[in-house]
Amino acid sequence: MSSLNGSICNFIPSHYGSEAYIEVLCCGYSSKNQVKKMEAGHHDLSKVTVVGDPQLLQRKIDAVRLAGTAKLQVIADFDGTLTKYFVNGRRGRSSHGILKQGNAEYDDKRQALYEYYHPLEFSPTIPIEEKTKLMEEWWGKTHNLLIEGGLTYDAIKESVASSAIAFRDGVVELFEFLEERDIPVLIFSAGLADIIEEVLRQKVHRSFKNVKIVSNRMVFDNDGRLISFKGKLIHSLNKNEHALEMAAPVHDHFGDGDGPINDNASVKKRTNVLLLGDHLGDLGMSDGLDYETRISAGFLNDNIENNLSNYRKAFDVVYLNDAPMWGVVKLVSQMCSTDKMSGNDKSSGITGGAGAAKAPGSGSTGSVSGFDSGATKDGTMKAPGQDVRISREGFEKNPAGYFRDLQKK
Ligand SMILES: [Mg+2]
Repeated sequence: MSSLNGSICNFIPSHYGSEAYIEVLCCGYSSKNQVKKMEAGHHDLSKVTVVGDPQLLQRKIDAVRLAGTAKLQVIADFDGTLTKYFVNGRRGRSSHGILKQGNAEYDDKRQALYEYYHPLEFSPTIPIEEKTKLMEEWWGKTHNLLIEGGLTYDAIKESVASSAIAFRDGVVELFEFLEERDIPVLIFSAGLADIIEEVLRQKVHRSFKNVKIVSNRMVFDNDGRLISFKGKLIHSLNKNEHALEMAAPVHDHFGDGDGPINDNASVKKRTNVLLLGDHLGDLGMSDGLDYETRISAGFLNDNIENNLSNYRKAFDVVYLNDAPMWGVVKLVSQMCSTDKMSGNDKSSGITGGAGAAKAPGSGSTGSVSGFDSGATKDGTMKAPGQDVRISREGFEKNPAGYFRDLQKK
């Protein structure tokens, strides 16, 4: 693919299985108008989705689908991945960034650290080992300031309530879709677990038994005052170090406590991974797993001209312009579409049991579009989240609308 220049982007003709799924894009996509348009919900998946190698993606989807949902897990970054990059036309805040600890002096001290270390984090000239030490320093000092400054849990609640942080449209539906199928979601963040949980409580008003957070975890005393952090410090450059080992000490502290991934061994048996991130470094989140198939979805939120080429090579699918989560919802629907097939369905959609493993990507079956699986010749498919069949075409045209309607039921 040729490189991108200026505001005129490539048209990338690509075919997703048998359908022309993804054609991209795009002029002036980082404009505020675009942001507003996205936020208004007038998005068109085909215009914000880039797939570098559609056949490879299709093969991966088919492999995951054939293995079944019992083999699947989702690992997601939080800031800028599950959350919007822009909120009301302005940069959304990170889980660290929203925190006001009720002590202006300490808020200022943390801000000063940010101003010193943040440019170092993205410096192209500092060797990675040195940079990693700097990040440890930064995170360590920040955590100490939170303790010294007397952060309370009430301050966290207030910070979240008054913050510009918001989930992408479709995140709730994605979590529900996965919860219904007992597919674990690991939110892996260098932010603050307690804040992420509070964001979930306040912005979603519920917890999900399948969602676990691996992030920096606070310890409060009986008065709700921060006294320490537990577990290994997670900063922006060590998210690639064995997520599951880092997750182990914190798994039982969220939600119902009996979620399907409390047992690390069972997570390790889930050898197919859907990884969601907004930085190339997020791809390291699955390094601790000996996965068989990984499908990576990257949100490229800003500076698209300079980054698209790398993102397209690194991620299986890239969503642009602070896109909503509907593309991932659709992707997951495809990945899961065989799992709950009835006996009747098994004879349709997938071309014949083990033989199907050879079909994906061959281009010879005419049935490699993800939505073909589980579909019958009458053009229907099993409705995600319901025990009925619906028009496949109708679902494909507007998966976002489908899940919105489902939520209202
Ligand atoms: Mg992020």
